[in-house]
Amino acid sequence: MNKKIYITRRIPNIGLELLKKEDISFDMGKSKVSPNKKQLIKILKKGKYDGVISFLTDTIDKEVMDSCPSIKVFANFSVGFNNVNIEEAKKNGIEVSNTPGTSGLAVAEHAVALMFALTTRIVEGDKFVRSGKYKGWDPELLIGTDMKGKTIGLIGVGDIGSQVAGMLHHGFGAQILYSDINQNILLEKNTNAIKKETADILKEADIISLHVPLLPSTTHLINKKTLSTMKKSAILINTSRGPVINENDLVDALKKKTIAGAGLDVYEFEPKLAKGLSKLPNVVLTPHIASARDTARNMMSEIAAKNIISALKTGKVINSVIK
Ligand code: NAD
Repeated sequence: MNKKIYITRRIPNIGLELLKKEDISFDMGKSKVSPNKKQLIKILKKGKYDGVISFLTDTIDKEVMDSCPSIKVFANFSVGFNNVNIEEAKKNGIEVSNTPGTSGLAVAEHAVALMFALTTRIVEGDKFVRSGKYKGWDPELLIGTDMKGKTIGLIGVGDIGSQVAGMLHHGFGAQILYSDINQNILLEKNTNAIKKETADILKEADIISLHVPLLPSTTHLINKKTLSTMKKSAILINTSRGPVINENDLVDALKKKTIAGAGLDVYEFEPKLAKGLSKLPNVVLTPHIASARDTARNMMSEIAAKNIISALKTGKVINSVIK
């Protein structure tokens, strides 16, 4: 095809093989860390690339698009695409895609794992044993709480939220409450889920799990005010995007025990954590690994490559995020 693309970080071979088959050549970043914006512009300008496979850690804004006019497509290697300025891409006729449906199972399982980590106090128990504090069975030691019978509040029930609902309803008889800008009739039918206002869910749910994209309407959805409406026994899970929560407000609520605990895979200013977060015993923290499975990563690689191929062949990606 005599086209060339840049891939900002390593991707699994499956996508690279697809590109080779179509005679699309590529350069691929070797660093474990994404290039910063200045470095990215320098690389993209030099290579005269036709497209880019980008990651959620790459800032693709007006400056990048203006500096590299040869690039006609950014295929993001993730479901979320808040790292790309979509309005600017639209204005410039640049195609942008994501990898929908690739990581739903992994992220849903991870969200449920975070819930269980908190209800069973498994991480605290592990630390307790390793630190040599375990001196024998104690009926009052690290008392957890049952998952069965809990009311689960899901904010956002697309691919991931729906799968979390299925796992908890069918596996543990949980009552599912959800809020979403769209009604999910299939979810209601499959899990008896009830649609409610977000404000009501925050008041009523025992466990609240966030599964919305990062948008102006979802930024700081969880803040001092909304946290104050949640149950004292509530657990908050976030595997969506860090800025959906005001992290300083969350630390404050956890310190004051106005909610019981939180399980986080994503952070407002990741990889940095809000002051005091890592010192709290009532949180379980993972390093943005919810989708880190071979199955998901291979699918992401395949879909990102297919979007690039389609855009370079037809001018259109398959999984456009531009509405
Ligand atoms: P999806 O697009 O299938 O579902 C998102 C849902 O949120 C949709 O049903 C949509 O209608 C709803 N929504 C949008 N705006 C809303 C609002 N203001 N209020 C309530 N609901 C709203 O996406 P998905 O595959 O379920 O992924 C959800 C998010 O999870 C992604 O956008 C991404 O940021 C994040 N994610 C994180 C990881 C990770 O590794 N931690 C991996 C994949 C995805």
